[in-house]
Amino acid sequence: MILCANPKYQFLSKKNKIISELKKTLYSNKYVLGKNVESFEKEFSKYIGVKFSAGVANGTDAIEIGLKALNIGQGDEVITVSHTALATVSAICSVGALPVLVDIHEYNFLMNENLIKKKINSRTKAIICVHIYGQTANLEKIKKITKENNLHLIEDVSQAHGALYKNKRAGSYGVISTFSFYPTKNLGAVGDGGIVCSNNKTIIENIKKIREYGWNQNRISNIKGRNSRLDELQASILRVKLKYLDQDNNKRKLIAKKYLQILNSKKINLPQIKNFNEHVFHLFVIRVKSRSKLIKFLNKKKIYPGIHYPKPIHLQPAYKKILKKKNYLPITEKVSKEILSLPIYPELSIKDVIKVSRTINSFFK
Ligand SMILES: *Cc1c(COP(=O)(O)O)cnc(C)c1O
Repeated sequence: MILCANPKYQFLSKKNKIISELKKTLYSNKYVLGKNVESFEKEFSKYIGVKFSAGVANGTDAIEIGLKALNIGQGDEVITVSHTALATVSAICSVGALPVLVDIHEYNFLMNENLIKKKINSRTKAIICVHIYGQTANLEKIKKITKENNLHLIEDVSQAHGALYKNKRAGSYGVISTFSFYPTKNLGAVGDGGIVCSNNKTIIENIKKIREYGWNQNRISNIKGRNSRLDELQASILRVKLKYLDQDNNKRKLIAKKYLQILNSKKINLPQIKNFNEHVFHLFVIRVKSRSKLIKFLNKKKIYPGIHYPKPIHLQPAYKKILKKKNYLPITEKVSKEILSLPIYPELSIKDVIKVSRTINSFFK
């Protein structure tokens, strides 16, 4: 069976180190927001190239609490895309702000920076750019737009841990950047986890308050908070895995290279990689017109690709009332019917990559 992602193999490949760290943590008598979280925040900041980080419970909270720390809420608008994980948009709604959605580029699925300006008005407070599938959006142009219009740039980096844009890490460009450590992500825990990064000390201090009831050092809540803490077991696993992130991303890149070499039908649209960035292939997404037939064909051969995501957020039942009419997104809607995520994870063997590629080629023959 060849699955789209396989976090168990991630664990097995680093089993001894992970188990020994977990044992230390289990005997430590500190299980939430302790030394491992503190060390991980420092190590992750250094890796991304920012000054500060705050661990939180998941990637959705990272966005929501990040928005709160920037004082974004009721009456404000936040520009982002509909072609993303539901979390990006739900976090904006959770703070009471209105998501304003722009369409994507057909060739790389990323936010179309040329469509942003006409969506900006006096209520606009921030742009969340999502580095979907492991490739960075056009950060230079988007950052320029945010500067010219006095907006916050937020990077949702949940699919691009370790990606580079012009030799700097994704996540080092925004006023804040947010990451998820869901098990299948390029850096994954064995449960939920997330982090917010920033060069702004005050913002990170506020996030550290909000994540624990609004408490300061004396357990006084001068601001309203909630509970969204990263735990020590997850942090100790993340500390082990962070050391291997570049190595694991290189394995993903090799797999992608192999797919690009072997997939040969004119009926397959292959992902395009811009040379200004280093794609870390969280997902390897092709576009095909005959998607459901191809999936059935692959499933018969025990190959299980995924779809990220089958329905754009502005068409989801819970969101379409507020988002469908206001947002005309023809490219987003078109690609959602054609995208297919092929199996990719660091431990996937090249033999299996060749098998998947040849099976797909044979379907189109
Ligand atoms: C996974 C993901 C999130 C949400 O992370 P959770 O940890 O599941 O809350 C947010 N944005 C993007 C782009 C994601 O891929």
